[in-house]
Amino acid sequence: MRIQIASVWSLILLGFLHIAGFTQYQSVPEVSRGERFTWPEGKQVALSLSFDDGRSSQLDVGIPILNKYRVKATFYINPSNISERVDDWKMALAEGHELANHTLTHPCSGNFVWSRDNALEDRSLEEIRQEIEGANQAIKRLFGIVPRTFAYPCGQKFVGRGLAAKSYIPLVAESFLAGRGWLGESANDPAFCDLAQILGVELDGLGFRDVEMKIEEAKQDGHWLVFCGHDIGGPARQTTVDTTLEALCRYSRDPRNGVWIDTVERVAEYIRNTRKQEQYRAAKSCPINIPNAVVRPTFSSFRQTPIELVLRLRDRLLLPG
Ligand SMILES: [Zn+2]
Repeated sequence: MRIQIASVWSLILLGFLHIAGFTQYQSVPEVSRGERFTWPEGKQVALSLSFDDGRSSQLDVGIPILNKYRVKATFYINPSNISERVDDWKMALAEGHELANHTLTHPCSGNFVWSRDNALEDRSLEEIRQEIEGANQAIKRLFGIVPRTFAYPCGQKFVGRGLAAKSYIPLVAESFLAGRGWLGESANDPAFCDLAQILGVELDGLGFRDVEMKIEEAKQDGHWLVFCGHDIGGPARQTTVDTTLEALCRYSRDPRNGVWIDTVERVAEYIRNTRKQEQYRAAKSCPINIPNAVVRPTFSSFRQTPIELVLRLRDRLLLPG
């Protein structure tokens, strides 16, 4: 009886948290190491193109190229940057591109002189939570959607200094399916990666030969390569070269190259679901090694915090089968 009452209360709390949009991220198990992850339709590599800050050249130069090749990309916007082009961004959303969260005011390290008055070293976790929630609310108000992925401004994931410094990765994990970094040096292993800290590789300034080499490298391991750019146009600082983008789209749409190109959201969702199915299959084939997420609640479960318990129950309920 005690278990039943606790379960009922947990389910009520679960419903509340879902309504509050609080539990979007799920702790995602790894699939077996050494086992090659399977992409849809026999593709050999996954690729996502992402562009930050909601810059106008993304609308004027980038999206026409992407649309020409029917490539869907992810745009991490700061709502204040896009106020003059809202209708154009609505069109991008309608065309299947992803609009996602890049905070309200783009706080970065104060070592960037332009961010000295908005420095992560001087911010608190509560302030970052407000940045994230504020941007979500603004995007919901402007576009009627709740963003499902996030890009860390400047790729930086901390607040505070020294002994008082803290990571804000858990805040991102709490609210989003995936969080993307910046200046990463590698593609992501879909069987292993933490979706709350996806590595993003710089696309700005690259020629197509360099881009192709990075894709081929990721393909050898069956990994997920996430490119990040800013402006799109002729060669310039923080600019993805338009001819490179066009060659990249053409290459990715050629079925001979085995590339699945899609938004960060869709690839992350596929990874999450595939891992959950792997976990479920493993649990069925080896009942002794039952993962935590499918263990029935026991009295030891109630020593956990309510949130942990609810997440466990929610994982259990969402398992296929
Ligand atoms: Zn940015």
